[in-house]
Amino acid sequence: MTTREEVDPVSAVCPECESPVQTSVQLRLSEVIDCADCRTELEVVAVEPVLLALAPEVEEDWGE
Ligand SMILES: [Zn+2]
Repeated sequence: MTTREEVDPVSAVCPECESPVQTSVQLRLSEVIDCADCRTELEVVAVEPVLLALAPEVEEDWGE
């Protein structure tokens, strides 16, 4: 089989530092990734095109 999979890295821009963020191809909505540059957590708010937003800060204490 000669299936050619062209995997284009999806690039988006970090809303925090405006650096291009390379993301995986199979992004899903609401997925949270880290900006490699500023380490900010970014939430995927849209795909095609990928749009990132600052992820809401999750408090570590979930009140368990
Ligand atoms: Zn950043």
